Amino acid sequence: CGIVGIVGKSAREIVLNGLSKLEYRGYDSAGIYLNDQKGNEYITKTVGRIQNLKDQMTSDEQGLVGIGHTRWATHGKPTENNAHPQYDETDRFYLVHNGVIENYQEIKSNYLSDVNFVSDTDTEVIVQLISKIARTENVDAFTALKKALAKVKGSYALLLVDNTKPDHIYVAKNKSPLMLGIGAGFNIIASDALSVLDQTKTFADLQDGQVGDITNDSYVIESLAGEPAVVQPYTLKIDP
Ligand code: GLU
Repeated sequence: CGIVGIVGKSAREIVLNGLSKLEYRGYDSAGIYLNDQKGNEYITKTVGRIQNLKDQMTSDEQGLVGIGHTRWATHGKPTENNAHPQYDETDRFYLVHNGVIENYQEIKSNYLSDVNFVSDTDTEVIVQLISKIARTENVDAFTALKKALAKVKGSYALLLVDNTKPDHIYVAKNKSPLMLGIGAGFNIIASDALSVLDQTKTFADLQDGQVGDITNDSYVIESLAGEPAVVQPYTLKIDP
């Protein structure tokens, strides 16, 4: 299973190629979300190979922000509905996740009993909770992400897009791999550096318990409690 996201550069090929390079991690289904930052968004999900995604997408499905996922199902069968990105009931937030949410049942019954779930995944609980917090507490996506994750127990590498602010990717890591790739005019976030080495060789490792707000030319990394983190980028000296 793996994750690739990019903001600030034509996203489709970079995400699909990155996902192909993450195939070695194993997967049973895959999906991609693209937003052209002009009001058009596209989501494609499939069971099986990344090639199936490519075959299903039409040429007009492009974006300047994109997130993609290969899934190794832990909660819910490998179906198109259960593939990621998962989204909330208002169709505003799109999320990819690797890992396992241990207390998803508890969160569902404590905070989300009035929500219509469309998948059987533990992941959908996170995106519905973020949405609920954003709406009921009237906070922005980054704040809602931090507040939601404060209630979550488990492992995650996750990427979130809020379609009311499609020039951002919000990210979080806890006990699943995730790294930031820093480019000129774009930023990438992926499960491993190898999957995006053709785009950048400058990386920063995210630590467990960290969240980030990434745009094409900035990245803010914090703890869940909102304390700024020290990020030390390094440059890999290897060829793709
Ligand atoms: N637990 C999530 C699911 O089953 C994510 C699995 C993964 O890491 O790919 O959908």
